[in-house]
Amino acid sequence: MKTNSYDTVVLGGDENGIERAAALLRAGEPVAIPTETVYGLAANALDPNAVKRIFEAKGRPHDNPLIVHISEFSQLEPLVTEIPDMARRLAEKYWPGPLTMIFRRSPIVPDEISAGLDTVAVRMPSHPVARSIIKAAGLPLAAPSANRSGSPSPTSAGHVLLDMGGRIPAVVDGGKCQVGVESTVVDMTGQTPRLLRPGGVTPEELRAVVGQLAIDPAVTSQLENGAKAASPGMKYKHYSPKARVVLVKGSPEKFSDFVNRQKAPGVAAMCFDGEETALEVPYVTYGGREDAAAQAYRVFESLRRLDEMQVGLVYCACPKEDGLGLAVYNRLLRAAGFEVISLD
Ligand code: AMP
Ligand code: MG
Repeated sequence: MKTNSYDTVVLGGDENGIERAAALLRAGEPVAIPTETVYGLAANALDPNAVKRIFEAKGRPHDNPLIVHISEFSQLEPLVTEIPDMARRLAEKYWPGPLTMIFRRSPIVPDEISAGLDTVAVRMPSHPVARSIIKAAGLPLAAPSANRSGSPSPTSAGHVLLDMGGRIPAVVDGGKCQVGVESTVVDMTGQTPRLLRPGGVTPEELRAVVGQLAIDPAVTSQLENGAKAASPGMKYKHYSPKARVVLVKGSPEKFSDFVNRQKAPGVAAMCFDGEETALEVPYVTYGGREDAAAQAYRVFESLRRLDEMQVGLVYCACPKEDGLGLAVYNRLLRAAGFEVISLD
């Protein structure tokens, strides 16, 4: 199947755009849609052929499963074999919102979605346009981030077009994504909920509902060679601009001293707002050092801007690892291919 033969249309997030997107989705086509986390590349989750087209358009490895998006709690039941009590409580508190839960899957979930696992990831987005499209299509929608596999996730319709223009029939423009990093992924199939990917709902917020929460080692460290990933997406280098990224831990002063000593053509910095003044190299900023929400909102856009600047090596100031900062740290670690320098 050809993936580069479309004249990609940009649809509005109004009634007309939503209806046209829903019609394409019902016809088995993939459509990029806005959510509160990042833009998703959606397709009918119950149609294996539609799902295959997502993998083709993204160039996504086939062993990386997809998240199914629903707009009503009643859509969850047919997809799973059981809904644990703790999952109900998390859904009551954080759905609709940036929380994905993993359940044992029912036979109606195509193998292509789960990449051979016996589980399925489900989320109910809060973005009004995403919800309206799911409702209008009358279908659960599989939707990974709408970027080419490995690139930073798209937080605007313009980013989607840069990666997917010509490869998909349409993108619905719903403005900039408010959270800016992907959903939190929690495995609910064991005794204790297990965090597989940090995201818009923080570990602290999850613990407030479920008490104990296990954190998968892949959240903050690289898997040993040959180790099996609980969340297959976590084993890939991801979220990456073309430049090599190195994450740098240390105070603002140590960071700027270090970066200035590396000054050379093609070397750039990604730093916190207000900390650029001491830098002697080209830079992008990505929010205040203490403002994890702003960092999440801007991190992918800033990584993409580095591509526009055509730099070869980026030293990135490391965020804090608590609250929403853990999600930002997790994405930057992967953008950096786990290359971290500590100046303390
Ligand atoms: P993305 O589609 O880019 O938001 O990535 C989805 C993430 O959810 C990836 O890290 C997947 O590996 C993870 N995921 C999806 N389904 C499952 C599942 N059934 N079990 C574990 N992880 C999953
Ligand atoms: Mg992704």
